[in-house]
Amino acid sequence: MKIGVLALQGAFVEHIARLRSLGVDAVEVRLPEQLGDLDGLIIPGGESTTIGRLAVEFGLVEPLRQFAQQKPVWGTCAGMIFLAKDIGIDRQPILGVMDIVVNRNAFGRQIDSFETDLHIGPIGDIPFHAVFIRAPLVMEVAEGVDILAQLEDGRIVAVREGHLLATAFHPELTDDDRLHRYFIQMIEKA
Ligand code: GLN
Repeated sequence: MKIGVLALQGAFVEHIARLRSLGVDAVEVRLPEQLGDLDGLIIPGGESTTIGRLAVEFGLVEPLRQFAQQKPVWGTCAGMIFLAKDIGIDRQPILGVMDIVVNRNAFGRQIDSFETDLHIGPIGDIPFHAVFIRAPLVMEVAEGVDILAQLEDGRIVAVREGHLLATAFHPELTDDDRLHRYFIQMIEKA
């Protein structure tokens, strides 16, 4: 199995390291032709405006869109923003492949980052310690989108729509590898 990590900007190194520790052939992706032989792709957290701008510059937007229509893709944080259909802003380039409405800086300036334990059904009963950094929130989901995790007040922070996965937090920054394992299983079953 070969998984790519979009390596334009952000926390791609950590995702690569985690995938390799799980025995996966993981590669950095910067060019459209590198998508050809991948079984899945992770779009990391970082700054979604920068990732979008560089994706346009490198001719990656349409190839990424086509890839995401066919193969498993997981967006974390800025990656979640990049996957969404609606982020309430027209100027910023996004793939628009996941039927979710996302608010980019949903926690405002006062709460820059925080950590909390989440219940994520498909990975088991033990809570997942989640790190949020200038995190987005999922404001609306269409039919066919499964909600995988919510904050205590009900706000949505992880979703899955078929072969697409999105998390508002940074699973690559903690030792818990269950979400990476879950994504690998999604690819195995795809
Ligand atoms: N707020 C950032 C953005 O708009 C996302 C932050 C992150 O990925 N940690 O892209």
